[in-house]
Amino acid sequence: MITVNKNLCKGCGLCTEFCPIKIFKESEEPNEKGINLPVLDKEEKCAKCGLCSLICPDQAIKVDEED
Ligand code: SF4
Ligand code: SF4
Repeated sequence: MITVNKNLCKGCGLCTEFCPIKIFKESEEPNEKGINLPVLDKEEKCAKCGLCSLICPDQAIKVDEED
């Protein structure tokens, strides 16, 4: 299971760009802070490689390997 902390994410898009399976897509509407948060699109295909969590500069992504 992947969780994106909406309070930490700044919408840089690195996770969307670098996930090898393209799990994320950018939300179409910005939130109240004007940030386009990444939206989980195909979470069931996640390989749990942890790249998104490693690459996120704000430690906003948690990949739970148990699920
Ligand atoms: S753990 Fe890997 S496959 Fe899963 S969302 Fe993150 S980068 Fe993509
Ligand atoms: S890499 Fe982190 S800060 Fe950037 S959009 Fe993804 S979750 Fe948000």
